[in-house]
Amino acid sequence: MTQMSAGTQTSKHKSAPIPFLDLITPHQELEGELVEAFRRGLQGAAFVGGSEVTAFEQEFAEFLRCSWSAGVASGTDALRFAYMCHDLEPGDEVVTVANTFIATTEALTQAGATLRFVDVTPGTFTMDPGALAAAIGPRTVGIVPVHLYGQVADMDPILALAERHGLWVVEDAAQAHGATYKGKPAGSLAPLSAFSFYPGKNLGACGEAGAVAGREASHRGVVSRLREHGQAKKYYHDSEGYNGRLDALQAAFLRVKLRRLIGWNEMRRRVAGWYREALSDVPEVELPLIARYGEPVYHLFVIQADRRDELQAHLQEQQIGTGLHYPLPLHLQRAYAPLGLRPGTFPVTERAAGRMLSLPMFPGLSEHQVHRVAEVIREFYLGKAPASNRR
Ligand SMILES: *Cc1c(COP(=O)(O)O)cnc(C)c1O
Repeated sequence: MTQMSAGTQTSKHKSAPIPFLDLITPHQELEGELVEAFRRGLQGAAFVGGSEVTAFEQEFAEFLRCSWSAGVASGTDALRFAYMCHDLEPGDEVVTVANTFIATTEALTQAGATLRFVDVTPGTFTMDPGALAAAIGPRTVGIVPVHLYGQVADMDPILALAERHGLWVVEDAAQAHGATYKGKPAGSLAPLSAFSFYPGKNLGACGEAGAVAGREASHRGVVSRLREHGQAKKYYHDSEGYNGRLDALQAAFLRVKLRRLIGWNEMRRRVAGWYREALSDVPEVELPLIARYGEPVYHLFVIQADRRDELQAHLQEQQIGTGLHYPLPLHLQRAYAPLGLRPGTFPVTERAAGRMLSLPMFPGLSEHQVHRVAEVIREFYLGKAPASNRR
């Protein structure tokens, strides 16, 4: 109980709360430009489609070094439409990871695929290429690597396996706007990728939004039709589709924010560097591994921690916000009980789910705040020691 008494001690000198995520400050800083974008939108009264949407699509494609991007209503729609570029037939299997948000897989099932989960690589928590190789079977048609927490999955072996077996690949890049793999942007590595602009993402709208990015004109055509009720021309429907368009006001807001993305990602990396330095000598804390192949953008800063639940409660007591991404792997969710996958199926994913903790991470987080978070974690494990004894 020494840790707990250390906790009680610090709670006597309460510092200002540290949120897990601050969405208020960046919008205050951009208020003038966002209001101006809103005013332009009102004046033109083009609320769906129009020049703001096409301009954003062009700018985002340039940012990604992709031939095109197509704005859609959410990241889930982006995944759905990217999957639907490949005509899925009953029994077609698609391989993905269980340590992701359910949007990755619900859109797959809804597009007609059968899910095939695989484990992740320790440290990076992205798709394990060895596990992927073992999971590919006669019914496999596609692969969906997820660039989780802002780190790109190890794409070269994944793309090589896809090539060898004639499989399609869709990148779930919803957490990786601006991350790179061997110098290339996440989202430009496979023929199709999906992005979310949910407000808390590295590039977030002021509401729901998403985009598909790709290379081939034929894919772009499919996505354009699907987001607009299957129509190629107004009121002429080649198929049924969806109401999945990008709102024009969101596109206008996203254009303002895209110009900040590189700087914001840089600030996230700086925050990560402070955490690494401050937590490097706490043996109970495993820091996120940086793969040598690329630069992450720290959508989340996820540590692996002993006695995770106690640590999270302790941080909460000290008014420090944290998150769990994700506490229950998808293969163990009730939604996927019909797959019949038992605990123990994916040991790396399952062990991580019990130990992971997402610390506060956003561009405006100060060095002082990071040190405070680290101090509370150090106290939890090491007890309160005089500063001179610590290193
Ligand atoms: C956020 C997210 C999505 C879904 O995006 P929405 O815009 O919320 O629909 C999909 N995959 C991952 C990994 C995500 O983090």
